[in-house]
Amino acid sequence: MNYDAVNNELLQFIDRSPVDFYAVANMKEMLLEAGYTQLFEGNAWTLEEKGRYFVTRNDSAIIAFQIPKKDFTGFQMMASHSDSPLFKIKTNAEITIDKQYVKLNVEKYGGMLCAPWLDRPLSVAGRVLVETENGVATKLINIDRDLLIIPNLAIHMNREVNDGYKFNAQVDMLPLFCEAGEEKNQFLKLIAQEAGCKESEILDTDLFLYNRMKGTTLGLNKEFIACGRLDDLQCAFASLKGFLAAEPKNSVAVHIVYDNEEVGSGTKQGAASTFLKDVLHRINSAMGRSEEDYLRALASSFLVSADNAHAVHPNHPEKADPTNRPYMNKGIVIKYSANQKYTTDAVSGAIFRQICKKAEAPYQTFTNRSDMLGGSTLGNISQAQVALNTVDIGLPQLAMHSPYETAGAKDTAALIEAARVLFSSSVEGVGDGNYTLKF
Ligand code: ZN
Repeated sequence: MNYDAVNNELLQFIDRSPVDFYAVANMKEMLLEAGYTQLFEGNAWTLEEKGRYFVTRNDSAIIAFQIPKKDFTGFQMMASHSDSPLFKIKTNAEITIDKQYVKLNVEKYGGMLCAPWLDRPLSVAGRVLVETENGVATKLINIDRDLLIIPNLAIHMNREVNDGYKFNAQVDMLPLFCEAGEEKNQFLKLIAQEAGCKESEILDTDLFLYNRMKGTTLGLNKEFIACGRLDDLQCAFASLKGFLAAEPKNSVAVHIVYDNEEVGSGTKQGAASTFLKDVLHRINSAMGRSEEDYLRALASSFLVSADNAHAVHPNHPEKADPTNRPYMNKGIVIKYSANQKYTTDAVSGAIFRQICKKAEAPYQTFTNRSDMLGGSTLGNISQAQVALNTVDIGLPQLAMHSPYETAGAKDTAALIEAARVLFSSSVEGVGDGNYTLKF
């Protein structure tokens, strides 16, 4: 396996995806290049057998699918998310200090580690809504240069900082933008320039800070990768690569990337929304199938909820469960939680293990320590709209929710291969709890 090629492509993909909108734009580009047809939710859909399509919602979530035949068995799906914790730039962003500096007013999006955002070059990416002759239009912008910094307070003014510090997002996390001058609204001017419009044409914005540090490989034998947004673009990328390489035979292959997982998934483009249900229904009816056919298909379907997992930390091995200890480069992590924060149960765990075996993809297991609360993800949230056998998995990583995370150099390839097998296979229900797997 050529891990270098996979990692180079992954790191480039992430570098070009500073925020959710760009992650989706880049996936869209890959799908168009592979010959997929873009659909719009507002148009009528005419779908064909052997057709390959994709649709976006809010420019920040995407569902791509391949229909091998009209009388398909079910849906073989993998879902990940496009967003990562970062700082959103507020409306009326400029704050002037002592008539000397201009800093930007920002707020938290999601639960990030604050400290690593300090003392490093940052820039701005997101979308600008501009006025057109008869409506509004979206423009994506990524200011591709070092632009801002959130400076630490010197240790002389904060002597106890190394004993633990509580970051106040309104005080500590505002980035320095420029020197104050005669001209006001410099930030808006810059945004207008980047968007190629007049300031007066800007109606609204969704703009975010991102870390400028590029992804890299490291370790004695380059066995690790480090990059921003590995959670969850590593899974989103692996899902798409596996999807593009798949050859579905009996079931519809569905690549799903939701947005807003980091803030609870409760948006129109999040896992709690009807996005997936709407798309599956439209596929079903476009093939001339009934509602009962849809429900029967769901009983013979499988969803992999793919969101990164915590590897055992070299400096804190005690934080991991005593017997379920995932390590970087040891394969895909199957996540368990008795309270079903993760959807994996014996049935979905067993089916996924069979898929990994077929793919010759190594896998390992994760549970939280019994005295620790873990995070949550999108698998159990999407069940409320589309209920089916679902497994929660991820790739092992360190420093989750830092703007620069670390993962294994070999694991992405394992997930690509497992995804390819998943998307090419079908899971036929033969009574509750019994399934025939066709590869
Ligand atoms: Zn995640």
